[in-house]
Amino acid sequence: MRGEALEVAAARGLLLAEAPPPRTEEVPLAECVGRVTAAPVRAAAPVPGFDNSAMDGYAVRSADLAAGPAPLRLVGESRAGRPAAAGPGPGEAVWISTGAALPPGADAVVPVEEAREEDGAVVPTAAPVRPGAHVRRAGEDVEAGAEVLPAGRRIGAAEVGVLANLGLARVACARRPRLALLTGGDELVEPGEPAGPGQIYDSNRFALLAMAAEAGAEASHAGGMPDDPAGTREAIGAALDADLLVLTGGVSVGRHDHVKEALAELGVEQLFWRVALRPGGPTWGGVLRRPEGRPTLVFGLPGNPVSALVTFRLFAQPALLAATGRDPDEGRASAVLAEPVATKLGREAYLRCRLEPGERGWLARLTSDRQGSHVLSSMLGADCLAAIPADRDTVEAGERVEVLLL
Ligand code: AMP
Ligand code: MG
Repeated sequence: MRGEALEVAAARGLLLAEAPPPRTEEVPLAECVGRVTAAPVRAAAPVPGFDNSAMDGYAVRSADLAAGPAPLRLVGESRAGRPAAAGPGPGEAVWISTGAALPPGADAVVPVEEAREEDGAVVPTAAPVRPGAHVRRAGEDVEAGAEVLPAGRRIGAAEVGVLANLGLARVACARRPRLALLTGGDELVEPGEPAGPGQIYDSNRFALLAMAAEAGAEASHAGGMPDDPAGTREAIGAALDADLLVLTGGVSVGRHDHVKEALAELGVEQLFWRVALRPGGPTWGGVLRRPEGRPTLVFGLPGNPVSALVTFRLFAQPALLAATGRDPDEGRASAVLAEPVATKLGREAYLRCRLEPGERGWLARLTSDRQGSHVLSSMLGADCLAAIPADRDTVEAGERVEVLLL
């Protein structure tokens, strides 16, 4: 069995090749944070839409001040949102507020701090004044026609602000892929209920739903799977209409593991079984193809909570990114190991690390020396998983390794 284990990259490639392509829907601006653009967004008009003042002061004609300070007659006011009725003529100035439209004829602004007022006139004290001084030009932020966001960009605070700046009330976003999660095992109970003899709380349900939501899925718990063949088949059959189905527990080769058999009976095609990976070796990947309609990508993850989170990050998260049009490689970086580590030859290892600033960039330090796949608390404070290649059994402090951000 061990010999058949696939490399992580190969297993990931098989799944990504089957990832459902993104579908589009219009989303109101106020709801699009966390969503992903389905198409490039272009500016229909420039931002700002008009020349305006960067300062509170006086809109002037710079030619009037070419020879040095000269009194200018104050003839009106341009306020934010309320442009002046007319611009300054020669020898005149107009009061102007920050963000107010530059009146016709004016080509520069003199800040209040650089002028004094006397008898209805203003005398700029720092003349001559350069044409364009303290003026924000139309289109300085975004030129008309420019692409402001590419397709496949996750919308955060900056993106939603820029979209609002364009006056857009709705944005074409990728639909959230529907992810169903089934957690299996007769030992599982819900938090809030007493744990009887031999029972444990279903931590995978909560941890994996959180990871799925973070990666952009519309994720739901489709229930538990009992440790019997018929019950397992029934639970899986009822959840197979999702875009992605994630199962934990019951995937391995124990006497009470029935997931792989049930998947085969339900027509789900196996892409791989076992990955040369630690933690997370006993991972199954497959796809239910439909002659008409979209496929369902199926992930059979180990029940051990750390293995479940690591394999979700390695396999399900990239598929979710691809299903919303994002780059599945988002979140790959490199860091320098802060301490030596020892792992097993022949399997890629993923170690839970926190990142701290170092002289040569980020330093990755183990969150805990207890890296067992059942030690869920070792995930606390983990910023990343540090990848130790399969052909290494020791890596020295100071060596640079690839990390997957969490
Ligand atoms: P299994 O993959 O079913 O062989 O389970 C491996 C280990 O993970 C066992 O110790 C299980 O009790 C544990 N486990 C399975 N499912 C969960 C779950 N949903 N939450 C927490 N631990 C689990
Ligand atoms: Mg089990």
